[in-house]
Order: sequence, then structure tokens, then C-alpha cells
Amino acid sequence: MFITFEGIDGSGKSTQARLLAEALTAEGHDVVLTREPGGSPGAEEIRRLVLEGDPDRWSAETEILLFTAARRDHLERTIAPALAAGKIVICDRFADSTRMYQGLSRGDLRGLVDQLHGLMIGREPDLTFLIDLPPEVGLARAKGRQGKEERFEDFGLDLQVRMRAGFLALAREFAPRFRIFDGAAPKEEVSAAILATARTALGA
Ligand code: C5P
Repeated sequence: MFITFEGIDGSGKSTQARLLAEALTAEGHDVVLTREPGGSPGAEEIRRLVLEGDPDRWSAETEILLFTAARRDHLERTIAPALAAGKIVICDRFADSTRMYQGLSRGDLRGLVDQLHGLMIGREPDLTFLIDLPPEVGLARAKGRQGKEERFEDFGLDLQVRMRAGFLALAREFAPRFRIFDGAAPKEEVSAAILATARTALGA
């Protein structure tokens, strides 16, 4: 089973992805925890090219190509082999993040993102956990840990507001695979709700 976590910056999705991976591993499942951009040696190199340094280094279109190239490598080298071996793959961000960030932040490029996805990726997760929360809360959390990641200072509140609405719209568009959780709730409550949903999906 292929499970992804999505949400705006500071939503807590990385923490929740890790907690779910730990809980399912403790229950005897074979779990691979991975992330995007990155998740394979080649894709981690592309991550550095995209997220470090001058944010205007790449055009919006080139950035979509780089994210898609990273995802293709990640899929070939990490995700597909693990799924073929019957493992549970839990991925922190996947194509939905590109639909949002690259698709909406610098003009409307969603069509291009989808075309490339169809050509080069062609795989959607079985289940996507969207951690939803007010952007003010997410931004405050994200700013609190600046230095850890590279882009937070470029992404102001306006963009976070649009991203939140965009993710909720995406959840309606791909309704059957999305589950939405309240990211402003205590971390333990969120992780318990996510684990219960995952157990149901796994038939456990
Ligand atoms: O998942 P995480 O929050 O660590 O992502 C690192 C940074 O990369 C974030 O600031 C996120 O907004 C950005 N990002 C992006 N486009 C993507 C995925 C992540 O701009 N497709």
C-alpha cells in the first residue's frame, strides 16, 4: 500500500508520517518511510538543486521538470521496488505537492504538472492523509524552526492561504483517496486518528 502525507508548511505532516511508520512497524508491518523531493540518492541531489540557493535560479517550468525528474527516480529506485516486495510505503509529500506548489504558486501551471505526471509518473497513492490547519498556525510553527528548511521565508501567509484552499479542493477532486485531519489538534490525537484510518485501510 502506498500512503502519502500532504499539507502546508508547518502542518506537522512529517512528524505524523514518522509516527505512523513507527506504529505500523511496531505492529509487524514492513514499512518504508520516504519523502519528496528526494527519497532516492538521485532525487536527493535534485532536491538540493531546487531547494537550496537562489529561489529564482529556475523558471517555473524548469522547476516542474526537475520535480518530475526527482519523482521519477524516487518511484523507480525506492517506491516501486518496495511496493513490489509487498511493503507499505509512507511518503512525506508526493505529486499533490507539485500540483499545489509548482502548479499554483507562479501562475496557473497545473495543466503542465498534470501532463508531465501522466507521461512520466502515472501513479497515484492508494491513500493520502491531508493535514489541514489555519495557515497562521502553520506559518508560526514553520518560522519557529527556520534554518531547518530552505524555503519558508519565501512563502508568506498569502501563498499559504491559497495552498490550504488548493489542498482542500484537491481532496474533493481526488475524493476517494483523501482523508482530512485537523492539524491544529494535539499531535497525539491526530496520530491516533491517522493510525485508526490506516488500520481500516489495511484491513487490520
Ligand atoms: O515537506 P517540507 O515542508 O519539508 O518541504 C520542504 C520545502 O519545499 C517546503 O518549504 C515546501 O513548501 C517546498 N516544496 C515545494 N514544492 C514541492 C514540495 C515542497 O516548493 N513540490
